Amino acid sequence: MTGVTDQTGVLALLGAMDVEVAAIRAAIAQPRKLQVLGCDITTGTLDGHPVMLAESGIGKVNAALTTAAMAQAGASSLVFVGVAGAVAPGIKVGDAVVATSLVQHDVDITAFGHAPGVISGVLAGGVAGAALSDALASAASSIGATVYRGVVASGDQFVTSAERSAAIAAQFDAIAVEMEGAAVAQVCTRLGLPFAVLRWISDTADSQADTDFGQFVHKIADLDLAVVKQFLG
Ligand code: SAH
Repeated sequence: MTGVTDQTGVLALLGAMDVEVAAIRAAIAQPRKLQVLGCDITTGTLDGHPVMLAESGIGKVNAALTTAAMAQAGASSLVFVGVAGAVAPGIKVGDAVVATSLVQHDVDITAFGHAPGVISGVLAGGVAGAALSDALASAASSIGATVYRGVVASGDQFVTSAERSAAIAAQFDAIAVEMEGAAVAQVCTRLGLPFAVLRWISDTADSQADTDFGQFVHKIADLDLAVVKQFLG
């Protein structure tokens, strides 16, 4: 038992694509379907713990809307599971990244003197919950993953260029890039909902990214279920 999933709260489990949530969805007992803010949510229990699950769709707007819907549906904390491209040297396909904080790398009003990723003095993203993130990192380690922790950068683009990856890494001190996490972080921060983000590395966000992604992504369903079961304890 991790201690972070208290007995009364409902843990929201979120992924962007069907493959990221399919095995978790299939493992939910007494499933019940809800629709909130136009988002399909499955509620039930996983190994006896109350959970809700949703597939947001790809990109920041979909992720933001689904996060808000899960909060509206009564989530007490939220864990995002999915895949990402590594942008820091040494992080390999199959490794896990647990976000410390998340930022939208495509937010840019630098023309007005603001830092990249910042709007009105506030980071467009958020800081992940420490206890949830620690538990998620331990869960990933315990199923054999090499786990890295650091900044995750999100934007509405699939990054397939070593130059773009290096620029994002340098600008935000990021270790991974994906398309939803910072939107989840921003909404959770505004709503006071504790959250954590785990990303399995599917590619290294370079010219091979689409091929590497395609070869890895089918492994995700089982990895996500294994890590969530371990996380729940
Ligand atoms: N194959 C899908 C598109 C996947 S987009 C389709 O055809 O509809 C990539 C997804 O994986 C996003 O959810 C994103 O969060 C994550 N991702 C993995 N590698 C990435 C990268 N290099 N750049 C951006 N997002 C990446």
